[in-house]
Amino acid sequence: MLSFFPTPYPDEILYSVFARYHARSGNIKPDETLQELFNSRNTIVRPDLPYNLTYLIKNLPLLSQHTVESLIQKHTLYPMYAVFMPDSKSAILGYMKGELGTYIYRGIASSVYLPKYFRFCPKCLFENLHTFGEAYWHRLHQTPGVLVCTIHDVVLNDSIVPIWNNKWYQVGIASLENCPISNVTKNYSESTKEWLRLIASDIEWLMTCDFKSLPSKELDWFHIQYIVLLIKRNLATLDRQVYEQGLRQKFLSFYGSEFLEALGINVSNNNINLFKIFRLHLEVFDPVMHLLMIRFLRNSPSTFFARKSKYKPFGKGPWLCLNPACEHYLHSVVTKLVMLLSNDLNSTYSYIKNPIGTFECDCGFQYSKIGVNLTKVDKFRFERIVTFGQLWEQKYLELNVVDRRNFQQAAYNLSFNYSKSPMTMLRKLEALWKSLNDSVGKDSG
Ligand SMILES: [Zn+2]
Ligand SMILES: [Zn+2]
Repeated sequence: MLSFFPTPYPDEILYSVFARYHARSGNIKPDETLQELFNSRNTIVRPDLPYNLTYLIKNLPLLSQHTVESLIQKHTLYPMYAVFMPDSKSAILGYMKGELGTYIYRGIASSVYLPKYFRFCPKCLFENLHTFGEAYWHRLHQTPGVLVCTIHDVVLNDSIVPIWNNKWYQVGIASLENCPISNVTKNYSESTKEWLRLIASDIEWLMTCDFKSLPSKELDWFHIQYIVLLIKRNLATLDRQVYEQGLRQKFLSFYGSEFLEALGINVSNNNINLFKIFRLHLEVFDPVMHLLMIRFLRNSPSTFFARKSKYKPFGKGPWLCLNPACEHYLHSVVTKLVMLLSNDLNSTYSYIKNPIGTFECDCGFQYSKIGVNLTKVDKFRFERIVTFGQLWEQKYLELNVVDRRNFQQAAYNLSFNYSKSPMTMLRKLEALWKSLNDSVGKDSG
């Protein structure tokens, strides 16, 4: 059991706490410190997502209030990752608690770029020295996308300490020596400063909100939200094709190139990966890009996460009745739509990829269609007649047995005519109805 453990300062990154422990422990070799903290001399002390934390917590002095969760939530960059990585959320948490820290970066966090050097706010530095007698690395200041201090509203400075540094025990402590106050502060335009403040406060919101209170979101959740919002802005089609060129222009004029460049975002045409966050089965993610997209499409992250946009591949109702027997034939009167999952059940992917809708008119006629309405004539399209309905069946029952068989065959042929043009299918349906009427009339007459 450790005889002491430094109390983390507000928003102090754990890396800094470990370095303060080492300095006070009197240990000469960092290996000894690693052994004491993590029971392993091979543990790598990571600035963003430290691991082996369960051992650390078990080993803390008796009256320690810390839990693994509270350390992770308040003193690591995990919350920033967690919000946008629903599937792997628990896996990463598991790695951070356990010994398999080397797995943390598999796939999930490869597009999160930490700053090159530890960053600091000169005003925070002096205040911390004054209040605590020492300075420390603030977690928020090291978070990708944060370039200003949200307390003092000043642009953060680079220290001379590289963030990926195997001498964590030496450089983990911020000081006046390794945090030279630069005379030249970056001179951003007012609008860029405004954006920097806003994005920094959005990130602060994400880092400090209880991420467990956010509903668990699969990656598709983000896909649907974005696509729906893009469709509303005429920046994507109903079948989820994003107009990248138009989006690029609007995105650029919304934020301005100075701000995007400050964040290291390349919006030029040759950056083909810029809008990859709209892709299905997204595995690589960039939290900063998500936040920028959220601000661009729907104001604040809190409204984005609170609301749920619904994907409407068949557009808004009411839809057409396609029953030639119905007095509302080809009128928009159908309000009942049931969406079904396509072939591989329980998979949201296929539902988004290939939506199936069954439309039911009050006349009893039901038809289904697969895939979105893209062209004007698409609204006349159907893949299958599910039920002919009372009106139609009444006529059908009046037929003799031989004809009935013919009509069954004809109705069957009308099904799955996906490749046929919608108008051809409609004409066939009309013809079928007409011949049905004629043959019944002939019979009775
Ligand atoms: Zn500050
Ligand atoms: Zn009808």
